[in-house]
Amino acid sequence: MDRIVSNEELEFEGEVQKNLRPKRLAEYIGQESLKEKMSIFIEAAKKRGGCIDHILLYGPPGLGKTTLAGVIATEMGVNLKITSGPILDKAGDLAAILTSLEENDILFIDEIHRLNTSVEEILYPAMEDGELDIIIGKGPSARSIRIELPPFTLIGATTRAGLLSSPLRDRFGVVHRMDYYKENELEGIVKRGGAILGVKVEEEGAKEIALRSRGTPRIANRLLKRVRDYCEIKGNGVVDLNSAIKALNILGVDKQGLDELDRDIIKAIIENYGGGPVGVETLALMLGEDRRTIEEVYEPYLVKIGYIKRTSRGRMVTEKAYNHFEIKE
Ligand code: ADP
Repeated sequence: MDRIVSNEELEFEGEVQKNLRPKRLAEYIGQESLKEKMSIFIEAAKKRGGCIDHILLYGPPGLGKTTLAGVIATEMGVNLKITSGPILDKAGDLAAILTSLEENDILFIDEIHRLNTSVEEILYPAMEDGELDIIIGKGPSARSIRIELPPFTLIGATTRAGLLSSPLRDRFGVVHRMDYYKENELEGIVKRGGAILGVKVEEEGAKEIALRSRGTPRIANRLLKRVRDYCEIKGNGVVDLNSAIKALNILGVDKQGLDELDRDIIKAIIENYGGGPVGVETLALMLGEDRRTIEEVYEPYLVKIGYIKRTSRGRMVTEKAYNHFEIKE
């Protein structure tokens, strides 16, 4: 199955993808209100010679949370350390990272909702008072030592803000929900990608890729690269409307940006549960898919375009989806 959407934890995006990552705020396309907020925080922090407040970014994968952390670090002229909730297994893992930070550095923790409690507890005083309390030894001889940390900014990213404990959530000065990108913004991302990759992208070609990118820059870049490959082999090397449509159809990405798993999800609910409601766990079992992939990657977009409704009893397919897939209710 050709998967355009993916939820790999530490995705290897290769050299090319790295180059596509914007480094400065001016190159970061879309998310205007977020950019405006950030540029003010960055200016103010630079003026004070301090660091910016802790930031929590939430929203579906591929919308530019990690990229934004990098952009802020570049604009501030500080180092960026990247880690993730599931990687930080023990309190000591986080302590080691925190003690390696330099003044005003940025620590990015992806999937912060997956931190375990003992690690989270280390984070509270670090975020609030810039202190690290660690216990050395075990039993009666155990003692606690306190280490002063340099000022730093924590940027937490999560696809599931609802799973964050409230003490952790409360310690972020800025909480921002990342939204899917608009079509014209994605078009801009595709054109920018084309320029970096050195491939000619016509207006209509960029528009077609943007339309099918599920509001997600990572997918826009990925589709662009695959369309480019197609154009180099089967076309004249130019990404125009015709070649974009042909390549995207071969990839199994339809006009709404839906791929095979989206179609399987909708069909499974319709064919086995008469359109729902059905629980996500059952759905995952039925499709042999990871529950998190369905819940955090696929479902939010299907909900956003109004193909699936979340109800207290489970997921239901809407009339719009029946119409799209031309299935009779
Ligand atoms: P997230 O951390 O939210 O999963 P990333 O920051 O890894 O997403 O973004 C995925 C890719 O999408 C990046 O490698 C980058 O090339 C591209 N991208 C993300 N946001 C933007 C943006 N605002 N402008 C241009 N490209 C972007």
